[in-house]
Amino acid sequence: MSETLYDVVIIGGGPAGLTAGLYTSRAKLKTLLVERMILGGQVMTTTKVENYPGFPGGIDGPDLMIRFQEHCQEFGLETITGEVTGLVDHGKEKLVSVDDQEIRTRAVIITTGAEPSKLGIPGEVEFTGRGGSYCATCDGAFFRDVPVAIIGGGDTAAEEALFLSRFASKVYLVHRRDELRATKVLQDRIFANDKIEPVWNCVVEEAVGDNSGVTSLRLRNRQDDARQTLEVVGMFVAIGVTPKAHFLAKILELDKDGYILTDADCRTSITGVFAAGDVRKKILKQIATAVGDGAIAAIVAEKYLDDLEHTG
Ligand code: NAP
Repeated sequence: MSETLYDVVIIGGGPAGLTAGLYTSRAKLKTLLVERMILGGQVMTTTKVENYPGFPGGIDGPDLMIRFQEHCQEFGLETITGEVTGLVDHGKEKLVSVDDQEIRTRAVIITTGAEPSKLGIPGEVEFTGRGGSYCATCDGAFFRDVPVAIIGGGDTAAEEALFLSRFASKVYLVHRRDELRATKVLQDRIFANDKIEPVWNCVVEEAVGDNSGVTSLRLRNRQDDARQTLEVVGMFVAIGVTPKAHFLAKILELDKDGYILTDADCRTSITGVFAAGDVRKKILKQIATAVGDGAIAAIVAEKYLDDLEHTG
């Protein structure tokens, strides 16, 4: 167990976590931010962010997140890389398990975000990294002049279809309904793009391939049950996200989809433990709302610590 007692441990280094860290370190609370992989979260795999205020014309996701990190460094935010596997509440002190060490803290802010959901079909696991991908921004450039498919109908699928159209010879947008969920501005761009062909009312039943990777997808039309083979060498899955809160399932109240339940001020079911960003159940998951959450969680945590000092 570590000797150091932190005021705040933040779990996760996306926009919510970095914002919380900025606020708590600026408030001179002894803060540690634990990130499993690289700081920046899902935004690191986003090409252009067009709806975060202050950047007319948009900004690349990684560039935005590097600014967040630099801003945190100005206030001396301490960060480590490690995987949090558990959290134990001892009242005024909490223990956070990070790999093989136990970190002591008085408050915790959970900002673990969400990860891409899986289709759960045959071939999906087998071909991940060999034609199968959950990140067009990361892998799209490997698919030059070949046909690919993107699965989903939300903002992510729409943005990724547009990104893939820069490289691929053809982009099939396979959606299970006959209208997109994506925002109107993205839909307009999709329908104006000659390389993108929507495939309506279809679900993927299987990713088929050989030693070289994906060669086709087996589709089923949900209206008439007709089967169809789509000859593509890339399958990009963009069907939404799953919150990364499973390691907290026995400790915190989650909703049926695994999102952490909080009050409007980001308080969870444990006193002194807060949740912010995409891992929290809320109506809108955007960078702007993650930032707002991070700020609220930090300020409410600060008030909680202040009350602890004064009540003993
Ligand atoms: P999403 O909005 O939940 O959309 C998921 C899409 O995948 C839906 O079209 C859904 O179909 C489909 N889908 C879900 N499960 C499926 C399955 N098993 N098989 C086939 N299709 C399936 O997810 P998202 O696009 O990742 O966006 C997540 C959040 O981030 C949203 O709030 C979104 O607005 C936000 N976001 C914003 C931006 C931006 O503002 N620029 C960019 C990316 C994401 P149905 O439509 O039939 O449900």
